[in-house]
Amino acid sequence: MENSENPIVESTENHAPIVQPIPGGGILVTKLDYIFNTGRKNSLWPFGFGLACCAIEMMAALASRFDLARFGAEVMRSTPRQADLMIVAGTVTEKMGPKLKLLYDQMSSPKYVISMGSCAIGGGPFYYDSYTVVKGVDRIVPVDVHIPGCPPRPEALVQGIMQLQNKIMTESLLDRSTPGQINTSEIKQETEI
Ligand code: SF4
Repeated sequence: MENSENPIVESTENHAPIVQPIPGGGILVTKLDYIFNTGRKNSLWPFGFGLACCAIEMMAALASRFDLARFGAEVMRSTPRQADLMIVAGTVTEKMGPKLKLLYDQMSSPKYVISMGSCAIGGGPFYYDSYTVVKGVDRIVPVDVHIPGCPPRPEALVQGIMQLQNKIMTESLLDRSTPGQINTSEIKQETEI
């Protein structure tokens, strides 16, 4: 509760209190993590990675009706070097898998991945009786948020972005491991034709 001895300016459920003013002065005290995380979560730059029908829903989320710009994530980049969020929207084929990994490696760190739709999560309707589809993009790159559905609606993508923002707010500069470190030998086996 706010009072004169403990003047809380801003708080969130998981991190209260975050920002506290020093009484009598125009000075705020907060954690460095809070500043970095707030900047990162509100300026996600997605890498346009629409691979199949789910991409149509991703495009709808960017348009005026759902307006992903409200979350600072509407600047779709066409190059991985200017992006920090890969939204894998659609079916990932075995042939596309190595290219997806290559593009992920070229993205700026810290970087995040959203797996959008049943196909990206686990192969979707192509899980059985198909040798051409990767059975989950998390076999190739580390996924932060999975969004189920075939296809998920734009609202689901918006919620996925919000979940990612919550996750970003829990990060710390001190315990950050190098992102994207997964067993590359397994990836090779999964993606080799
Ligand atoms: S999950 Fe469904 S809508 Fe999305 S790419 Fe696969 S088949 Fe298409």
